[in-house]
Amino acid sequence: MEFDFDALIIGAGGAGLYAALEASKTSKTAVLSKLYPMRSHTGAAQGGIGAALGNVDEDSTEWHAFDTVKGGDYLSDQTAALILAEEAVQAVYDLENRGLPFSRTPEGKIDQRRFGGHTRNFGEAPVYRSCYAADRTGHMILQTLYQQCIKNQVSFFDEFQVVDLVIEDNMCKGTFAIDLASGELHLFKSKAVLFATGGFGRMFKVTSNAHANTGDGPALCAAAGIPLQDLEFFQFHPTGIKGMGILITEGVRGEGGILRNRDGKRFMEEYAPTLLDLAPRDMVARAIMTEIQAGRGMRGDKKIDDYVMLDATHLGKEKIEAKLPDIADFCRTYMDIEPAEKPVPVQPTAHYGMGGIPTDSDGRVETSVTLYPGLYAAGECACVSVHGANRLGTNSLVDLIVFGRRAGRHIAGFVKDADLPELPDGHDEDIHTLLEKMKSSGSGPTVADIYEQMQTAMMADVGIYRNAEGMKRASETVAELREKHGDMRLKDMSSTFNTELLEILELQNLLDLALITAESALNREESRGAHSREDFPDRNDETWLKHTLAGLKDGEVAITYKEVDITRFQPKPRVY
Ligand SMILES: Cc1cc2nc3c(=O)[nH]c(=O)nc-3n(C[C@H](O)[C@H](O)[C@H](O)COP(=O)(O)OP(=O)(O)OC[C@H]3O[C@@H](n4cnc5c(N)ncnc54)[C@H](O)[C@@H]3O)c2cc1C
Repeated sequence: MEFDFDALIIGAGGAGLYAALEASKTSKTAVLSKLYPMRSHTGAAQGGIGAALGNVDEDSTEWHAFDTVKGGDYLSDQTAALILAEEAVQAVYDLENRGLPFSRTPEGKIDQRRFGGHTRNFGEAPVYRSCYAADRTGHMILQTLYQQCIKNQVSFFDEFQVVDLVIEDNMCKGTFAIDLASGELHLFKSKAVLFATGGFGRMFKVTSNAHANTGDGPALCAAAGIPLQDLEFFQFHPTGIKGMGILITEGVRGEGGILRNRDGKRFMEEYAPTLLDLAPRDMVARAIMTEIQAGRGMRGDKKIDDYVMLDATHLGKEKIEAKLPDIADFCRTYMDIEPAEKPVPVQPTAHYGMGGIPTDSDGRVETSVTLYPGLYAAGECACVSVHGANRLGTNSLVDLIVFGRRAGRHIAGFVKDADLPELPDGHDEDIHTLLEKMKSSGSGPTVADIYEQMQTAMMADVGIYRNAEGMKRASETVAELREKHGDMRLKDMSSTFNTELLEILELQNLLDLALITAESALNREESRGAHSREDFPDRNDETWLKHTLAGLKDGEVAITYKEVDITRFQPKPRVY
């Protein structure tokens, strides 16, 4: 079938729903989501959403913007970071007015907790900035926005997976999506299309990300010739459950939790004497790896999968149950540990892509040389870029809300004067050829074989510490896997819920993003934020204070650069 809309939003997480809510005020809006909306990954967000409300501590939006830029190791675009901090305040109150049940102070204001890298007075001490709903903040955001979208009569196409884009003359003219229930391919024409497809942590073996986080939006854009920005910056969260990667929110440290090594020492004293356990994530993750490599992990064998302890026992059962109830449940369910009684074994877990589809601060997809009219992106799949080389905790939810909202508003204006695009001849050839090839006879590798090899290579060689030899090895492995992927054929020919077909397409997306990530990382010969190179240990502003733009054509990654917007805060050494 063919559908026509003014605005098409791909993704029903926080970014997509907020954009849909705004766009639907003036335009006929649809949301396509491969998951039922409430299962979007935003629902997993635990710790909170940062906004300088000043309800518990003195705070200012300028301090928030400064922390964001410093946290991003000065690669953040500063106009966007200032917008993020300033509009966060109104966005949080909007969510409150729309019904989000925030946790409260005794006086009834929105309560706030501390989070890594968020400070008072330009780095003096941790500040209480993260607004939260216990440890279910993301879940509450989804509920609130979904209800509002239903009220605004947004059309939802649940369990529709977008598999191809039609782009001509830099304009996105349509998208193809498979209805999971029937297997049918549908065409969606629209004046404006917004990608809000979330993250791509599944390219790594140990990750906090759900199975659906396969980077479909950025990969489809890259396949359509749009370069991706700063993919070399991938964040490892310091505290995943040992061996599983499931996240233990930074909110635990925000409430006073302490990281300890095998000697029981609070090792962050050595690495960040002012902020201690609340230093930014890249630093804490590196500190854990350094402790492990020095034989001070809990096993002491110096292996990459050793671990340290997160001690929250001194917080007491009552506080843990009130402020971190889901985390307490995770500890019981996955480790049989009562966190009020025993420390929790943790290790870094691949968590968040700072890079993505390049946009301006209204969500319009643009590189410094090309604007793609009618094409938008917001949320984790986009790169505004506020997070620069390392995102601070709680700043992703702010990013979704602030820039999802701005993109939705821009779309509402854009579609008023736009016409429904005419599709070029042969617009459906590529997707039909691909699907027919996959259904043709043959054998080839399985999804599981390729997935495992990609994740292992990326984890080992494009992880927390990197060097040229390792990244070349990972890039070559991924390039070979991309070749093998071309030989994959469907074994399951059914139409109803054919998850094999969808997984093969998702794997293609992850492989493309893994290749761009490895090549962009290899190209950047410095250490900055989450990109930490053993062979280039220092930040090099003279050569590398610039964004990467990496395009993918015929299996080759081509790199150009984009200027960083530095308007308020001059780069300085990053100490905490
Ligand atoms: C465990 C965990 C805890 C976190 N806690 C916090 C926190 O406390 N604070 C914070 O700021 N950040 C946190 N984050 C990060 C933050 O939650 C995410 O970055 C953010 O929620 C991503 O939102 P999004 O709207 O961009 O995408 P998502 O919420 O991931 O939604 C993506 C949407 O895209 C759809 N989609 C994807 N591909 C397709 C396709 N091909 N076709 C159709 N639909 C598609 C999916 O169905 C889904 O609806 C956390 C992350 C994790 C993993």
